[in-house]
Amino acid sequence: MIYLDNAATTKPNKNAVDIAKIYLDEKYFNPSGMYRNGFETLKELNAMRSNILKTIADESKFDLIFTSCGTESDNTAIFSSAKRGTIITSIGEHSAVYNAFCELKLRGLNVIFAPLNEDGSVNPEKLYALIDNTVTFVSIMHVNNETGAINDINTIAKNVKKINNKLIFHSDGVQGFGKIPFKLCDEIDLYSVSAHKIGGLKGVGGLFKNKKCKLNAYLIGGGQEKGLRSGTENTFGIKVFEVATLQKYKNIKQDYIKINEFKKYLVDNLDKNYFDVISSENSSPYILTVSAKNLKGEVLMHFVDDCGLIIGTGSACSSNSKNRYSRVILACGIDEKSADGILRISFSSETTQKEIQKACEILNNCAKELTERMA
Ligand code: PLP
Repeated sequence: MIYLDNAATTKPNKNAVDIAKIYLDEKYFNPSGMYRNGFETLKELNAMRSNILKTIADESKFDLIFTSCGTESDNTAIFSSAKRGTIITSIGEHSAVYNAFCELKLRGLNVIFAPLNEDGSVNPEKLYALIDNTVTFVSIMHVNNETGAINDINTIAKNVKKINNKLIFHSDGVQGFGKIPFKLCDEIDLYSVSAHKIGGLKGVGGLFKNKKCKLNAYLIGGGQEKGLRSGTENTFGIKVFEVATLQKYKNIKQDYIKINEFKKYLVDNLDKNYFDVISSENSSPYILTVSAKNLKGEVLMHFVDDCGLIIGTGSACSSNSKNRYSRVILACGIDEKSADGILRISFSSETTQKEIQKACEILNNCAKELTERMA
């Protein structure tokens, strides 16, 4: 089996799981426990926090709040700080952000969705034109999960704050963290991440928080995570997250180059009679989105699955015609016919050259066979 749906989730890092097992077998104590073992566990949890923080942030300026997933990090950022006035995000956001903004619209806030460029990145000039002093919150994702387009969020945050320095700037970093070499600048207030996209476990996430940014708690209870996210911390899952993160950052630049070669190989070798490339050249190396010509992506996805290749589709996979095409893909200006054929091929640092060559062969053969059958 060749697994190329790593933007959906990655295989847990075995070394990280082995190292973390001690938090299941021996150090299972509650980090809020007032006895010595509890206190020791809290100290270790804070060391994990510090190690993850330092990969992309200046520890004197940022905190890290552990959450249960990327969705919770996004929702915490949005519902804790977007409470009044005008709030802006892009039409290309993951539903963890987009649907949260739709909910706030129902609750009466003035919500604006900024438009995209053809590749799925946010159009910065059009975004800046929307900012005025009524805007309280802006959320722009780092890497688009459907096209791989990278937004230069440091520049965007700086420019947005030049226009209105009171607003809170959040970025969904779920597809950027551990993959795109980058450091958080001072103008970014909140940055969401998720462990299972980089070899950690499902059910663990994080929210980087600028110390200057005041946040209200979203989950209220026992006051864990400095009162900002109540609930006993998942020490085992967080240890896996820490080890997986450190491993990713150790090789982040080499992996970026290696994976970019894989993406380029597919761009060059996928048969242009059957595929159009949607992702731009300067998009994240980890995501390649293509459209199968005159075919339904979902049908081709099942066909290649039968041949041992797992990839993702871009469509919402819904029989409801309103949701049949991805809102993000349509917002890139792609027509409905091409939107129907969208496939997302996504890599991890574990992906090998041999797998890429084989995947390319399977995709070309299956697309040819399906097209011939339909003729
Ligand atoms: N944001 C983006 C850009 C994503 O790609 C995803 C997951 O695919 C999420 C948020 C949600 O993350 P999680 O699955 O950890 O809730």
